[in-house]
Amino acid sequence: MESKDRYREARNAMVRNQIERRRIRDPRLLSVMRRVPRHLFVPSPLRDHAYEDGPLAIGLGQTISQPYMVAAMTDLLALNGSENVLEIGTGSGYQAAVLAEMARSIHTVEIHPHLSEVARVVLADLGISNVHVHVGDGTLGWPQAAPYQAILVTAAAPEIPDPLIDQLDEDGRLVIPVGGPNGQDLELWRKSSGRIYRETLFPVAFVPLRGRFGWQNNEWEEKIEG
Ligand code: SAH
Repeated sequence: MESKDRYREARNAMVRNQIERRRIRDPRLLSVMRRVPRHLFVPSPLRDHAYEDGPLAIGLGQTISQPYMVAAMTDLLALNGSENVLEIGTGSGYQAAVLAEMARSIHTVEIHPHLSEVARVVLADLGISNVHVHVGDGTLGWPQAAPYQAILVTAAAPEIPDPLIDQLDEDGRLVIPVGGPNGQDLELWRKSSGRIYRETLFPVAFVPLRGRFGWQNNEWEEKIEG
């Protein structure tokens, strides 16, 4: 509780200056972003930077996304609270914690067992019980819990993995960064009356999606910075 309060003002300022100012208006989402303790999802030496306007390194060359990016992608899913959601790329678990308060159940898949374990512990310590953390190749989706009314990919894909389209429910929404090491575009996919619609939104910069339908090491080399 004490540590929560210590960062409360920083969290309020983050929402005001980084998120509301960039025209995210959903009161439910803003209130969730004011509550979820982002500092608990970053390595302890970086705690004091947790509410700054950018991504942070979480180890193994991976990052926790910028607060605004988490808010913007969540907003695009247009969640009403009833959804079963799939997230690809658990990373720190922060995005999953935000989704947990916006939807019914979250399945999140991470390819690095170590990151997955760290995220699982933080989520459990916070008493978040509707997030199911899985280790695996998220480009295959997570068929055991499909269909999903919303799917969020938090790493850059060469193109949308087919299994994710298959596991998206009718009227579902899917958000994914598509592109390579020089930049990507955020895309919103929708399924309606059995048809698929794609919208290209704005440029973004994510770490690579690996795995069967992701980038191979010889196509996108990663610098591991601890
Ligand atoms: N959503 C995260 C940010 C994740 S960064 C957060 O809130 O902190 C992207 C993550 O995707 C990294 O942790 C990376 O290891 C993971 N990843 C990359 N390829 C993957 C794949 N094929 N399946 C699952 N996770 C993958």
